[in-house]
Amino acid sequence: MTDTDTTLFDFDNTYRHELGDLGVEWKAAPVPSPRLVVLNERLARELGVDPAALRWDAGVAVLAGNAPPAGAEPFAMVYAGHQFGGYAPRLGDGRALLLGEVIDRAGRRRDLHLKGSGRTPFARGGDGKAVLGPMLREHLLGEAMHALGVPTTRGLAVVTTGEQVRRDAPEPGAVLTRVAASHLRVGTFEYAARVDDPTLVRRLADYAIDRHHPAALDADQPYLALLDAVIDVQADLVARWMLVGFIHGVMNTDNTTISGETIDYGPCAFLERYDPAAVFSSIDHGGRYAYGNQPAVAQWNLARLAETLLPLIGDDLDAAAEAAMALLVALPDRLRDRWAAGMTTKLGLERAPAEDVAALADDLLALLREHRLDYTSSFRAVADVLRGDEHPLRTLAGDDATALGPWLERWVGLVDATGRDRSAVADGMDRVNPVVIPRNHRVDEALRAATDGDLGPFERLLAAVTDPFVLHPGDERLAEPAPEAFTATFQTFCGT
Ligand code: AMP
Ligand code: MG
Repeated sequence: MTDTDTTLFDFDNTYRHELGDLGVEWKAAPVPSPRLVVLNERLARELGVDPAALRWDAGVAVLAGNAPPAGAEPFAMVYAGHQFGGYAPRLGDGRALLLGEVIDRAGRRRDLHLKGSGRTPFARGGDGKAVLGPMLREHLLGEAMHALGVPTTRGLAVVTTGEQVRRDAPEPGAVLTRVAASHLRVGTFEYAARVDDPTLVRRLADYAIDRHHPAALDADQPYLALLDAVIDVQADLVARWMLVGFIHGVMNTDNTTISGETIDYGPCAFLERYDPAAVFSSIDHGGRYAYGNQPAVAQWNLARLAETLLPLIGDDLDAAAEAAMALLVALPDRLRDRWAAGMTTKLGLERAPAEDVAALADDLLALLREHRLDYTSSFRAVADVLRGDEHPLRTLAGDDATALGPWLERWVGLVDATGRDRSAVADGMDRVNPVVIPRNHRVDEALRAATDGDLGPFERLLAAVTDPFVLHPGDERLAEPAPEAFTATFQTFCGT
């Protein structure tokens, strides 16, 4: 390798070759002066590339879209999607490109994708560009979610382009390199099912089975098994979102993956005080994608997937619909079971009776809601109570801490009944309940500073949220809930 060599990745591009009708060959728009802002060195190594090579000019040119890496076959993918319930027949990568697929060191196939790489035939009215703040946001939130154990696409790098891009005001242009298990979306199936080629949706489904859910091939009805498998990974995903207090903000079907990874960190946010009605997105006026609605929305989105698969499931469409419906109807219970299993570890009750745990978790949430308590901090504070330290709970809840008394008594009773040592249980809880999450006010502060040229706050926040279960000295302010006045007016924007 030399510093002008672009043989960075060992590409193996199956999507483009097998499903070339689901997109167009395309080139990234050149940019004037690319500069590397953040590089995910660990992820680079996972992909089998030397991080140093990505820091060289030739590497940065690749990450900016100025030079396709050797072996890449840049491709703008097409898809459709239901956005806030309305159908958009042709969305697609308006400002993004699939560079190709790489087999990582663990043998997993990963997509390498540029976001902000110029207009494509799917750009509609958009400028094809991205700006620094939102691309750093996607990078940060993805890394935080990964550290929390939530399946997600991830940022490999963010570069600035040297251009100013007009949003409300001119902002630094940027390109994000995204790594994903794939970019197959429910919206990809919606597109494929409506084109004038009856083989397309079948080829797409076969591809999805092969790439993500190979066990479906052994089932009596592979396409029904594919639906079942996607429902399963999405139920697991949304249960994990609920457990960490994540609000995706724009759960359209084009942002719902077949792999079960979180994708597209636009107007997302983490909960502060517990409130199922919490919405931060500036465009979600009706609260369709509110925190507490996410399980129901997942079910709605997967029903859209089911519709595209019915003709593959069987010639008798009524029977196919009945079989698909049975899976969809069971989704809420599946999701609730995953959630309850997660709550069991959050509350340190792995050895307690499951019914007791579920009731206790529901009662805790009712108390958090009633007393407007911070979701994330509450789990750490109750673990401290178990250690005999009520101070964090008092700091968090003030006089309302007393209202938690009867609940705490029941909970400690259940913990003691398991026969485990109280402080060992508290330590176990601290290993699954984060102390630092990307809180809205801190993310906002870090992105503003980065846009003004100071990356310090972003780097500190990234380091803290990627080691989320440990409070490092000096990071105390990153763990504190936002002032209520901030949260009451805070909005995230799609204008990315
Ligand atoms: P998103 O909200 O990021 O999921 O994007 C929804 C759709 O709008 C996708 O088809 C994007 O490619 C497209 N899009 C978003 N921003 C732009 C932009 N600045 N230029 C072109 N297309 C865009
Ligand atoms: Mg999207």
